[in-house]
Amino acid sequence: MAQTDGKTPVLVRGDPGVVSPMAPKKTSIMEVWRTLWIESDAMRAPNNMNPADGIFVGQPGCLACEDPDTTTPTPPTITALYNLLQVANIEVQLLPAQYNVNVTPPLLQKAFQHNIEPQTAAGDGYLQADYPGRDVDSVERFWVIRMLGAYEGGVAEDNDPDVADVAPPALGYAPQSTKTTYLFDETIRDYRDMLAGSQSYVVPIGAALDLASAHEALHRFVGNHVRPIPTPPGPADEGIMQNAFVIFTTSAQFTLTDAQIRSVQRLRNPK
Ligand SMILES: [Zn+2]
Repeated sequence: MAQTDGKTPVLVRGDPGVVSPMAPKKTSIMEVWRTLWIESDAMRAPNNMNPADGIFVGQPGCLACEDPDTTTPTPPTITALYNLLQVANIEVQLLPAQYNVNVTPPLLQKAFQHNIEPQTAAGDGYLQADYPGRDVDSVERFWVIRMLGAYEGGVAEDNDPDVADVAPPALGYAPQSTKTTYLFDETIRDYRDMLAGSQSYVVPIGAALDLASAHEALHRFVGNHVRPIPTPPGPADEGIMQNAFVIFTTSAQFTLTDAQIRSVQRLRNPK
């Protein structure tokens, strides 16, 4: 039996004696699912011995210093992204190893870059051109987002030292002019440790990296943040797209909004 509001007749096939106010319509439902492949790559560890890496100034344990949370960037994970995109009928999978050949150094042509500078700065230029090492492009019938576990973004947004930058730092970049989506390992670790001093709860570092990974990948669908944030916020600034909330909000508290579902489903293919 169907549930009703007591006023609207609902005709369910097989219910005897029910008269519909309209001619009954048969509805065929076909669910269409798409697969989104994630090409997940990572830089190698920071290397003080290679001048081409830029100046590396790791000072572990010092929150007010440069690079207090150094570690080797790891390939971005897809757990939160998988869960979020189910409601939009998107199945998220890692690009299989036989297609994702350039995963980590030495196969990545460019192994480490200290600061990935924003487009507006006179920097390394990697936000103007794809970071080397992409294997599979995204096309209409084969959706691929290329993600790179990187070290940190521009010097004005890397949270080093903590007091130096205008908050919030960049936990990643998804520059719409290129096809590489960055996840900044050191900045996420650093910012999470900083917030742990003022917030009652921060997620474990693995969850922070995973949530930030989902946030950055979703930029490929919802576009850039809008500043100042409109009222009410648009799809690029609500839910998991609220900047830096990924550090202290659990994955269970995030879901795609209606506008974000539309943003995901309207694309020919993400870049
Ligand atoms: Zn963002």
